[in-house]
Amino acid sequence: MPKILIVEDNEMNRDMLSRRLLKRGFAVETAVDGLDGIVQATREQPDLILMDLNLPEIDGWEATRALKTDSRTSHIPIVALTAHAMVGDRERALQGGCDDFATKPIDFASLIAIIQKFLPVNKVMDGK
Ligand code: MN
Repeated sequence: MPKILIVEDNEMNRDMLSRRLLKRGFAVETAVDGLDGIVQATREQPDLILMDLNLPEIDGWEATRALKTDSRTSHIPIVALTAHAMVGDRERALQGGCDDFATKPIDFASLIAIIQKFLPVNKVMDGK
């Protein structure tokens, strides 16, 4: 079962994403800020990270940089969740080491498609 770490400070968004991914058969871990995200990613070794960019403590760009420069976590794909459809945010996310991004409000079907691109073949879900 693929494990996804959701790093999101907004409780409502975090819970909704978490519920939907669980329902879909993923294992889910959550972190409430960038610092927590780094700690959880290192400890839990998720298959993929969904990273909100606007986060307290350490923002999503900084947290991504930290994860991508640490050999314990650099292999984990990071999908940025950008709050606005702002081109600058996306570019910064990709330049900062994010592997892809999804724009809020999250379209769940598109998000699943993005997630599946990055999962190891033996962990790809059939979506049923
Ligand atoms: Mn946020």
